[in-house]
Amino acid sequence: MKVLVLNCGSSSIKYQLIETEKKFELAKGVVERIGMAGAVLSQKRYDGDSLKIAGEILDHSMAIEYVLAVLLSKTHGVISFKEEIEAVGHRVVHGGETFSDSILITDEVINVLRENIELAPLHNPPNIKGIQAVKRILPDIPQCAVFDTAFHSSMPNKAFLYGLPYDLYKKYKIRRYGFHGPSHWYVSNKAAELMGKDISELKIVTAHLGNGCSMAAIKNGKSVDTTMGFTPLEGLLMGTRSGDIDPSIITFLMGKEGLTLYEVNTLLNKHSGLMGVSGISSDMREILSALEEDNKKAQFAFDIFCYRIKKYLGSYSAAMGGLDAFVFTGGIGENSAKIRKEVCTDLEFIGIEIDEERNNTKNKIISTESSRVKVFCLPTNEELVIATDTEKIISNIIK
Ligand code: ADP
Repeated sequence: MKVLVLNCGSSSIKYQLIETEKKFELAKGVVERIGMAGAVLSQKRYDGDSLKIAGEILDHSMAIEYVLAVLLSKTHGVISFKEEIEAVGHRVVHGGETFSDSILITDEVINVLRENIELAPLHNPPNIKGIQAVKRILPDIPQCAVFDTAFHSSMPNKAFLYGLPYDLYKKYKIRRYGFHGPSHWYVSNKAAELMGKDISELKIVTAHLGNGCSMAAIKNGKSVDTTMGFTPLEGLLMGTRSGDIDPSIITFLMGKEGLTLYEVNTLLNKHSGLMGVSGISSDMREILSALEEDNKKAQFAFDIFCYRIKKYLGSYSAAMGGLDAFVFTGGIGENSAKIRKEVCTDLEFIGIEIDEERNNTKNKIISTESSRVKVFCLPTNEELVIATDTEKIISNIIK
């Protein structure tokens, strides 16, 4: 089945057309600067053909029209009729407490997504816009939503409740939700497959380290804890997000610097993390090059980044009562041997021994033969999870 996977952001849409039986990516691309001057669509086809077109792309509907035109194009396209697309799968960031699995999108589902806007004010509105646009442009094609939060819906109360008055959870649904679900699911299952074991027998910690970073404790195939919380701000140090801080810092700063709620929110989400600590960049590659020049603040950013991963690895091993596998993924996890090594140093007591050569040559397994815990470096594929979930839902309906 050919599934169009869409990840709609506020001013961008990432897309992939995937042939699910062969797990094959026919084309992938991104439309950027939607609604702004200088909008651009860039696409790469399976055979290396690439194209970039600039145009005036006013909204999400227009962007999706462009995507379809390119997919259908005689020279750069991969399909001859739009009916060849049998389903559309959307990455939807927040499913709240309602959705614990991927789902066929109906008007009722859209209404619930609207109700959840409060929980994900930046992410859910563009997701809904994308769904509405496809509904207009491809009215006969079924659409599915695959949620970032769904995989973590198996967390026990003790992991998802905060130490706040319980009534606030009931009133405002303030709790840990967790994000990056498809990625944590995908790499934990890949690790089990590579170990030749059933995931239901394993205790795995996964670290998705990209611009946003999160870790998950996965016991017997189910997420039992994760570092991101009510929003994707909690937990690890990220590109521009602070991760864990003492909440009192917020009120302290508001008093000292006269910051408004909006300004503090922007400070924590956009000006903190690697960027805030180093003052150089949110991009790990630039932090690593600054390290070569003995930049002190880049060193602090690097140290905090690695230390927090190590700390959560220990805490999740304790939470699960053991550890069988540890997985690195995401742009940083997949590409930085230096970070993998730093995180895994001095963890022999927990059963982790890294093989330097395997780590440096980007082997899938980077631990030594004798390491009790297997350590992996695996590319993630959230789009494939979205496409296969969509295919499963649609096939069940057609049956
Ligand atoms: P997103 O979370 O937006 O999907 P990615 O998973 O692509 O992002 O990760 C982006 C991060 O990966 C950036 O911090 C980037 O610097 C980092 N990265 C990419 N390549 C490397 C590399 N070779 N070494 C270290 N970090 C890298």
